[in-house]
Amino acid sequence: MSSEKTPVAILGATGSVGQRFIQLLDNHPWFEVKEVAASEKSAGKKYKEAVNWIQSTPIPGKVSDLVIKNCKPNLKSKLIFSGLDSSIAGEVEAAFASKGYYVVSNSKNHRMDNDVPLLVPEINPEHLELIKQQKYSKGCIVTIPNCSAIGLVLALKPLVDAFGVEQVSVVTMQGLSGAGYPGVSSLDIIDNVIPFIGGEEAKMESEPLKILGKYNNGGIENLKIKISAQCNRVAVMDGHTECVQVKFKKKTSVEEIKEVWENFSAEPQKLKLPSAPENPIHYFEEINYPQPRIHRNIDKGMAVAIGRLREDTLFDYKFVIISHNTIRGAAGGAILCAELMKSKRLIE
Ligand code: NAP
Repeated sequence: MSSEKTPVAILGATGSVGQRFIQLLDNHPWFEVKEVAASEKSAGKKYKEAVNWIQSTPIPGKVSDLVIKNCKPNLKSKLIFSGLDSSIAGEVEAAFASKGYYVVSNSKNHRMDNDVPLLVPEINPEHLELIKQQKYSKGCIVTIPNCSAIGLVLALKPLVDAFGVEQVSVVTMQGLSGAGYPGVSSLDIIDNVIPFIGGEEAKMESEPLKILGKYNNGGIENLKIKISAQCNRVAVMDGHTECVQVKFKKKTSVEEIKEVWENFSAEPQKLKLPSAPENPIHYFEEINYPQPRIHRNIDKGMAVAIGRLREDTLFDYKFVIISHNTIRGAAGGAILCAELMKSKRLIE
């Protein structure tokens, strides 16, 4: 691989996900942020003047003085990370791909398109083959899943492979940064739980079926299981917690389930991609773990923490997952996808 870094542009650079891209790409060995773009309200201003920076590290020096551009497909960088609001992401991302850009998106708009990979590099790297079906000439769109779906699919993948899964029930407690910036009003969320997140339950019930599906004859055969999801917003800054119940096809035991989780390792680990977690799954034996404040940053925020595996009275087993919504569930997950694409020479 060439030692020169690939220049990248961030669309939606001022938002919750855009800021994470900028933070995670600082000193990245393969990619360098050269351009930032956002809405007309921000365009023309220096990044440091337009952004309300809410990350715990300072704005990287190379980015803070960049002038924000419009989200038009006339940027110099060919690799585009999109953290755009979904009201405009669909149209803008298609316009970039049509002009030959490689778009890696966090937004929901293209996730379920038949020719667009919904990519989790540890689970379905072969879905990248779908790019060949796309109508964007040299450009392409690759998407990453919803920020709660990612934790669930990483936990389920080894279980699907080892024991077969029939049914899943999941109840989420989702962090505030998942609602973007400024997100949910403090008067709504302090001392409260909001048992509704628009569109989230439908995404949790459909996206895993595509992600865990098989690439076959130029398309994806969805995994045929049933998922029931209930999604709640809670007063946690970052990190989504999920209480999961699973019914298996094959009889198994607590020990066997822990073993397949602990041994789970995949292509990003084999390829030693820079953002890959050492272990995609970390299992905790402590009776009161995992917890978002303690475990969301595990393995660079790129792994899922799992605990409380036990037998269930309705399904077979139940357990609890924590994953970081703006790292593994957004910017970090998208960067890992681009690393996989670059290592497969899908990005020139
Ligand atoms: P956000 O904080 O609201 O940021 C939205 C970004 O889009 C801002 O940079 C904003 O720029 C830009 N934007 C809004 N309207 C625009 C327009 N008309 N033209 C150009 N740019 C425009 O949202 P977010 O939480 O970062 O989420 C971004 C996307 O990622 C969404 O589609 C979301 O569903 C998805 N996602 C979010 C998470 C998460 O945990 N937050 C996880 C996974 C996926 P200005 O500042 O200039 O308005």
